[in-house]
Amino acid sequence: MSEPTPFRPLRRAAQALSPEDCTAVLERASSGVLALLGDGEYPYAVPLNFCLEEDALFFHGALAGHRVDAMGACAKASFCVVDWEQVQPDRYATDFRSVIVFGTLAPVEDPAQRQRALEAFARKYCPDHPEERRLRQIALESPGTLVARLEIHHVSGKVSRSLAAPQP
Ligand SMILES: Cc1cc2nc3c(=O)[nH]c(=O)nc-3n(C[C@H](O)[C@H](O)[C@H](O)COP(=O)(O)OP(=O)(O)OC[C@H]3O[C@@H](n4cnc5c(N)ncnc54)[C@H](O)[C@@H]3O)c2cc1C
Repeated sequence: MSEPTPFRPLRRAAQALSPEDCTAVLERASSGVLALLGDGEYPYAVPLNFCLEEDALFFHGALAGHRVDAMGACAKASFCVVDWEQVQPDRYATDFRSVIVFGTLAPVEDPAQRQRALEAFARKYCPDHPEERRLRQIALESPGTLVARLEIHHVSGKVSRSLAAPQP
């Protein structure tokens, strides 16, 4: 018998984003918050830049620290991106569009995959720089950089009720 899924559907299904819209958000957003099981089992939610590449999320950063220790202790993680929000005081509400990704996080050891991920980062965050400059920067920083890959197990996306498509 197969295990029951740990992933829940939205209670308000009409507010769900399509898989295509979720992907668009993950391609567009520049940062999100990575949630890990941190020290003393306190959840550690840390803001990070990221990129979507080869159907996975990639992160980069220091080789040591709370984040690295937490991902070493428990690979399960989630990553939340708020793509857009607008407070609506008249309605006592906030309009929003957000995505949450669940998966497992591990350091990337394969040099070719590390390089592809760092190049994807550089293209995303420095699109106007010539490729030569991006590659030079990667060569400089890569040895002291941890690249981590979040294998995606589940994605959900949600918009506020006011932005959801009207139901028939
Ligand atoms: C929008 C944004 C994008 C970022 N992108 C990246 C990225 O791509 N790569 C990257 O390495 N870092 C990024 N940072 C910084 C990141 O949030 C962490 O500070 C950094 O990764 C170090 O994390 P650590 O767990 O190794 O720090 P440690 O110094 O080991 O953490 C020790 C303690 O410091 C506190 N702490 C750490 N970071 C923060 C924080 N941001 N805010 C408040 N308290 C904190 C926590 O209490 C933590 O338990 C980004 C920050 C922001 C706001």
